[in-house]
Amino acid sequence: EVAVLRLGHRPGRDERITTHVGLTARALGADRVILAGQASSRADTVLDITDRFGGPFETETVESWRPIVRDWDGRVVHLTMYGLEVQEVEAEIRDAHQADRQPLLVVVGAEKVPFEVYEWADWNVAVTNQPHSEIASLAVFLDRLFEGRELDREWEDAEKVVIPQEVGKRVEAPADE
Ligand code: SAM
Repeated sequence: EVAVLRLGHRPGRDERITTHVGLTARALGADRVILAGQASSRADTVLDITDRFGGPFETETVESWRPIVRDWDGRVVHLTMYGLEVQEVEAEIRDAHQADRQPLLVVVGAEKVPFEVYEWADWNVAVTNQPHSEIASLAVFLDRLFEGRELDREWEDAEKVVIPQEVGKRVEAPADE
């Protein structure tokens, strides 16, 4: 299992970012997003996309993120510009996840992330040591974790399926099984 934990949501400022963390987690192969505290307000939008475009993908809300990180039964990856370079640690993380079947919690922040997260994480991972965005770092990390296989994922129980077009938009109801 791969779960993504969103913490530090600032109401007003982070609304679309938190939604996009959820949608990126879903589209790029995670099984679940956990929206903590005020980030919980974005759950409906992520659920709505899952209803329309398919799953399986779970959207969970929690009041407090601390027990999730502290008590995680598996390994914890914290995405931070201060961490070790993703290209240096990705193989080790993949091994823990794939060979040892450890559930992986991927933590992304918004504002300053409390230091406990750095300490509790098994890996603090940087997607470059430059400041950018939780959405971008999540996308690159998941793609590295799954080595691109997430791009070929099949979706179940979708109401809509996009048919790739060279030009234009084509959306259909899925063909019957
Ligand atoms: N300045 C904040 C701090 O010191 O923790 C981080 C703010 S940043 C806009 C929000 C989130 O984006 C971070 O918590 C981290 O998860 C992610 N992020 C930004 N740049 C990153 C990078 N180069 N590598 C990995 N994650 C990054």
